[in-house]
Amino acid sequence: MTECVFCKIGKGEITPKKIYEDQNIIAFLDIFPAAKGHSLVIPKKHYATLLDIPEMELKELIQIVQKVGAAVMKATQADGFNVLQNNKEAAGQAVPHLHFHIIPRFKDDGLKLALGSKQSEEKELVHWESLIKEHI
Ligand code: 5GP
Ligand code: ZN
Repeated sequence: MTECVFCKIGKGEITPKKIYEDQNIIAFLDIFPAAKGHSLVIPKKHYATLLDIPEMELKELIQIVQKVGAAVMKATQADGFNVLQNNKEAAGQAVPHLHFHIIPRFKDDGLKLALGSKQSEEKELVHWESLIKEHI
């Protein structure tokens, strides 16, 4: 069985361009960067998606996302950054091991990470408001 590539990075079997490491977390440069300094932050332990990691481990992880985000901003002298986190193939997740992307952004860089452009109708919003609340 082929093991998960990010598990291999977590175990030190593959050596990425590492920018941060502690007992549970590692951050490194993405090999297909969307922008210079594009970095990834992962737990060393395998969790497939954001829904799978225990709350306390996620808390640690998001703190490191903040730390790495600040460092990437400074190092690249970016004007901003996106934190992107894909869950499951339908959402563009190619590596099924939880990870956060940190993508530095520059004024007028032309990078397209587009969200919706059409305003929702009121009844649609009301429908999803009540349905999602039922599952919280
Ligand atoms: P996803 O589409 O799953 O959210 O993003 C996975 C990211 O991991 C991609 O941006 C891809 O370039 C990156 N990636 C995949 N394999 C490797 C690898 O072996 N080393 C590094 N450094 N990045 C990888
Ligand atoms: Zn894994």
